[in-house]
Amino acid sequence: MTGKNKNRCSFCGRREDEVALMLTGKNGYICNDCVRQASMIIKENMGEDFLADERKGEDGRASQNSLNLKNIPKPRDIKSHLDQYVIGQDSAKRFLSVAVYNHYKRLAQPFDDNGVEIEKSNIIMVGPTGTGKTLLARTIAKMLKVPFTIVDATVFTEAGYVGEDVESILSRLLQVADYDVAAAERGIVFIDEIDKIARKQDNPSITRDVSGEGVQQGLLKLLEGSMVNVPPKGGRKHPDQDYIHVDTRNILFICGGAFDGIERKIAQRLNTHVVGYDSVQNMQKIDTKDLMQYIKPQDLKSFGLIPEIIGRLPVLTHLNPLDREALRNILTEPKNSLVKQQIKLFAMDGIKLTFEEEALDYIVDKAVEYKLGARGLRSIMEAIMIEAQYNAPSENRKTLTITKQYAEEQVEKNARMKE
Ligand code: ADP
Repeated sequence: MTGKNKNRCSFCGRREDEVALMLTGKNGYICNDCVRQASMIIKENMGEDFLADERKGEDGRASQNSLNLKNIPKPRDIKSHLDQYVIGQDSAKRFLSVAVYNHYKRLAQPFDDNGVEIEKSNIIMVGPTGTGKTLLARTIAKMLKVPFTIVDATVFTEAGYVGEDVESILSRLLQVADYDVAAAERGIVFIDEIDKIARKQDNPSITRDVSGEGVQQGLLKLLEGSMVNVPPKGGRKHPDQDYIHVDTRNILFICGGAFDGIERKIAQRLNTHVVGYDSVQNMQKIDTKDLMQYIKPQDLKSFGLIPEIIGRLPVLTHLNPLDREALRNILTEPKNSLVKQQIKLFAMDGIKLTFEEEALDYIVDKAVEYKLGARGLRSIMEAIMIEAQYNAPSENRKTLTITKQYAEEQVEKNARMKE
């Protein structure tokens, strides 16, 4: 017997020459059969995902292969979840649901999949302010329970230190992930107001002197997926600071912007593409009131986004302006609608709050008048309710009904106070 063959598996006791492979530990040995058995026991007890989590990617980092597709909601499930919180915006919901599902498929894809690699599906949502872009992104992130952060693209321009500031997106994501790098690396980042970093010369509507293109270049690095050195607590880079290395390959970026005036670019494109007799017929088919539905990546380019950025945001979808009916629904329908929130607030004081239909219509009228979209609803509601919220808890009342007349009085009173 050779010295080598004296080594016995510490679990099954077999000698090295009786097994295919023997692994040496600090104080013992384990054979390939026992490793396999141990792995099966772990799978049984902890689930498939547990082992996948431990697997390492090519670069030695924890692999993205830690998601089980079975646990990820399907596009239709994602959409119906969104329907509970967000009114309308069907097209955006569908695009988002599929993009998010694909994103997680991507995370779950096996390494050795015949060389077919599912590419990242960052999203860009175009639509007027206050129509639900942030709400959509936030609702999705909550549903999937992944770290989620919202950043405003305009802050990068203002601070000036472009390269560093763009990385601060990742600092924030790390913060919300409690510095769990692997979790942050699968997170979702919502970049708001992406239209504000459009190149100026292509976009005369932006009068501020912003170095849009520089910021876009900085963002590009994050969007395309790279290892980024992030200063731990967000602040500026410092020579002695230990960086946290964050791989952005699997972070889902959702960008949103109002792109004011982009309809003009869309109209121009539609016009220049259709010339002659045919064009007249084609133009008739085009719904000129809602040009946004025809948005294409080249319109974003005309608006001033660099082609590289557009290329990294392959899923382009639009949100519609909210009409009266949508605003009316937003008041009452979503799971945490403004009306439901008020009812809950008062119920906590033992008061049954009701709104007359006319009062709700009045709130919608005012929101339309203020042109603030759904954002307006909230401030109008607050203005109407402040008085009652102040007095009711001390009044020993059991019910409170908000009539149109009461709502009008409160809004006017508030307006007077602000003058
Ligand atoms: P955006 O990001 O498009 O500017 P937000 O998503 O921040 O707009 O919307 C502002 C607020 O208006 C949200 O908090 C939400 O209460 C309400 N809101 C906007 N759009 C919708 C919608 N489609 N359905 C329900 N609520 C909405």
